[in-house]
Amino acid sequence: MFTRSRTLARIGGVPIQVDPTWFLIILLLAWSFWSRFTTGPPTHPAGVALAMAVTATALFALSVLAHELAHALEAKRRGVPVGGITLYLFGGATEILSEEVKGPGDQLALTIAGPWTSLVLGALFGLIAWPSSTFSPGRRWTAAVCSRRWPGRSPATGSEPPALPRGQASSWAP
Ligand SMILES: [Zn+2]
Repeated sequence: MFTRSRTLARIGGVPIQVDPTWFLIILLLAWSFWSRFTTGPPTHPAGVALAMAVTATALFALSVLAHELAHALEAKRRGVPVGGITLYLFGGATEILSEEVKGPGDQLALTIAGPWTSLVLGALFGLIAWPSSTFSPGRRWTAAVCSRRWPGRSPATGSEPPALPRGQASSWAP
């Protein structure tokens, strides 16, 4: 299916292959994050926005990999041969020899292993993000730092540059 993919690594004996289309989606996602972080609200200086965009994109990529690894490692644990994991335009795919799946119990376990991992990661990221979006002192501090460095804002009044209409600054979220 993925004739142009290359094996970049092996995790737990599972080959991790990357199709060239993966880089397209990664670049698009990084640009989308960067655009979101620079247009705000809140807006961030270009360097900070770039670091945040790279971090967010890396976390996205690792989350996709973790989802696929969960499928693959659960399959291996149950004695089902795994061909490998391929990262491509629409995320990831794990090649599992379905003829070797012994029954509906095994099929269910290796099917839900991926979504379950994504759910746990989502909850974890939510828990990490929650304090920063809830407590106002943190938000004021961010606003103060940004107003000092971002030329569109006035430190004296704390006023913001004209906001884009809602939706225009939205980012694509996986
Ligand atoms: Zn899956």
